[in-house]
Amino acid sequence: AVVTRFAPSPTGYLHIGGARTALFNWLYARHTGGKMLLRIEDTDRERSTKGAIDAILDGLSWLGLDWDGDVVFQFARAERHRAVAEELLAAGRAYHCYATAEELTQMRETARAEGRAPRYDGRWRDRDPAEAPAGVKPVIRLRAPTEGETVVEDAVQGRVTWANRDLDDLVLLRSDGTPTYMLAVVVDDHDMGVTQVIRGDDHLTNAARQTQIFSALGWDVPKMAHIPLIHGADGAKLSKRHGALGVEAYRDLGYLPTALRNYLVRLGWSHGDQEVFSTEEMIAAFDLGSVGRSAARFDFAKLANLNGLYIRSSADADLVAAIETILPQVGPERGLSAPLQPDLKDKLTQAMPGLKERAKTLIELLDSAYYLYAQRPLALDEKARALLSDEGRARLAGVKPALEALPEWSAASTEGAVRQYAEDAGCKLGQVAQPLRAALTGRTTSPPLFDVMAVLGRDETLARLGDQVP
Ligand code: GLU
Repeated sequence: AVVTRFAPSPTGYLHIGGARTALFNWLYARHTGGKMLLRIEDTDRERSTKGAIDAILDGLSWLGLDWDGDVVFQFARAERHRAVAEELLAAGRAYHCYATAEELTQMRETARAEGRAPRYDGRWRDRDPAEAPAGVKPVIRLRAPTEGETVVEDAVQGRVTWANRDLDDLVLLRSDGTPTYMLAVVVDDHDMGVTQVIRGDDHLTNAARQTQIFSALGWDVPKMAHIPLIHGADGAKLSKRHGALGVEAYRDLGYLPTALRNYLVRLGWSHGDQEVFSTEEMIAAFDLGSVGRSAARFDFAKLANLNGLYIRSSADADLVAAIETILPQVGPERGLSAPLQPDLKDKLTQAMPGLKERAKTLIELLDSAYYLYAQRPLALDEKARALLSDEGRARLAGVKPALEALPEWSAASTEGAVRQYAEDAGCKLGQVAQPLRAALTGRTTSPPLFDVMAVLGRDETLARLGDQVP
């Protein structure tokens, strides 16, 4: 059975590239009926933090990507990694190297002067350890093949080969006894029974190194798939400006996890020209053969459009619930806190059909619902203020008695009253409706005006009018 794994280093948030790698591993596992394991590569003790681990786990959960079994922590397995290095040493597949820091620097400098890649020259490979200088703690290096080729058959990159003479004897265990990343990944992938590695193509050269270690141990090499990195819309390497944010940032920007996931699956993978996938469709269609070889471009506008689509097809109550989950982050600056007051929650749900037609993010949704939670007297934006000129105010003063006199309050009755007033006053509907909108919502765009009035109710509507024309 297929076993994939997602193996993030917890040195920051779960960034968008990592989220896509996780998604591809998850989809492939679910597609094949296999498992996806999660390994936290926390061997960099200074940079690996509890906060970063939590951000990864939370990010995966938010995206709906679950993993099988317990989380494996790489650092906790250091003893096992050391034991494997010792095994290789005992079998003659690795050796102690006593080269000093100065010697290594010199090798690097010579290489630079000769214009070639730096490379350890193998000086302790066949040397008698009895010649070891006193007081130098050795590293353990792999006795890598010096002839022939190392081949990686990659599901995305195709067959990739390296001349072994270009790959030097890499360090497995440092002089302080800590395992290197290269050794740890191989031992963990083997012990976890990983059959398929799916990760960014920045790890392609590591795949050659790791293949050599697998071979030295006589272990099966997992199948490989190295996916092209994500670039910005301008083709440059992804930076913060392009969207290289943590997934929690996307959450706080008001993206739905389902929409982000749908966006991510299309970043580098295609299925005909289908853009929108339900979870089931994604799982059914995903394969590694359709992952492209060129860098995918991150396009915020496309993500926003997709998000708008998901918002429009979401149930009103679900959208209110989604807004509530981000209120701790985005509520305070709007004077809101979670949970929403029941009355406001009801109004928001009631107004949702009109609100969601236009919004591309939950933030836009929340801001367009400003009129529901705005405190009197309303803070008017600049354009709204301009609409409440003397003329605008005169219209408000004119229509107010007609609204006050309504025996029954609804979208239909308020519309009737406003239309009647406009007709009697000999003005266009817009000349009344625009100042009304400004006074009631503080903005010049809003859901349909009479729906706004219905949701606000008689008392609040008249009070807001009264704030403008006492
Ligand atoms: N920990 C590595 C990273 O975050 C991934 C290692 C791997 O997938 O083999 O880039």
